[in-house]
Amino acid sequence: MKYCAVSIDVDPIDCYFGIHGLESPPTDLRSVVIDRAIPRFLKLLAELHIPATFFIVGRDLDEKITESANLAEKRLKSALELNHELANHSFWHRYVFSDQPIDMLKEDIVSAHAIVEEKLNYQMQGFRCPGYDLSPNVAQVLTELGYAYDSSYLPSPPYFAAKQLAMTASQIRGRKSSARMTDPRGLTVGCTPYRINPEKPWKKGGGIVEIPISTTRISMIPVIGTFVAMASPAVCQVALASVAKRNFFNFELHGIDLIDAEKDGIPGGLVAKQPDLRIPLKVKRERIRNALTKLQTSHTFETLSATAGRTQLATRTSIS
Ligand SMILES: [Zn+2]
Repeated sequence: MKYCAVSIDVDPIDCYFGIHGLESPPTDLRSVVIDRAIPRFLKLLAELHIPATFFIVGRDLDEKITESANLAEKRLKSALELNHELANHSFWHRYVFSDQPIDMLKEDIVSAHAIVEEKLNYQMQGFRCPGYDLSPNVAQVLTELGYAYDSSYLPSPPYFAAKQLAMTASQIRGRKSSARMTDPRGLTVGCTPYRINPEKPWKKGGGIVEIPISTTRISMIPVIGTFVAMASPAVCQVALASVAKRNFFNFELHGIDLIDAEKDGIPGGLVAKQPDLRIPLKVKRERIRNALTKLQTSHTFETLSATAGRTQLATRTSIS
């Protein structure tokens, strides 16, 4: 049996302004991703009967920080009513997340956990670091808090190289980006879920489950939502065929994948920097839908917590 887990990182729009070194977005646009993209994803997933995991940024639910926190709560309640999973994507979504001292990391993870528990009466079991990194400090905090899994590593050398290049170019132009480089040891983990060594989470051990984001098998290209939305159908078909040969596909999407620059009023400055925003929503949705429909012919869909449960069970069986 082959499995596929779809996850959607609901990164607030200001994260993208930060990556590109742009000024903060207008106030009325701050909640555009959670407000507009979540209902679109829920509709698409319902059409295909696919369960998914939404990675939530805690501050979106905090009315002291986000004016439309009530709306976010409503959107996430709808996701829970449809049996989707919510998971922790930190409170602030800082790209320096993994570099922070351990007490700051812990406070951030606990704050996100607590606000989801308070507003939605829901216990999250999974975590994803902003910026695809899992440091030993983060692993330690997640273990202490009793989390079942992490899903942060993106073992893709081409992605790593492209990010390095983009950051260097940005520095040369004197733009201050909020992005940071990931630890290259995370490139060695492969795409099969495993139990981590908590001191060296890029190595196997008896700790919590790590569920790396999937890439193609030989070229190691990340087949994530942005790729599917932007690649020509022929290129996408080849990449999907490669990744579909894996017994498990961790398919990562972002809320912004179902945002329409024109309809949703995204400022031109960001659209100029973010090429996927130049593709109309209708086209992106159709491409993502086609990819999911194709995967349904070979894979059974599950949430990431179900993947973590299967991985733990398999490890226990192999040890006994
Ligand atoms: Zn994120």
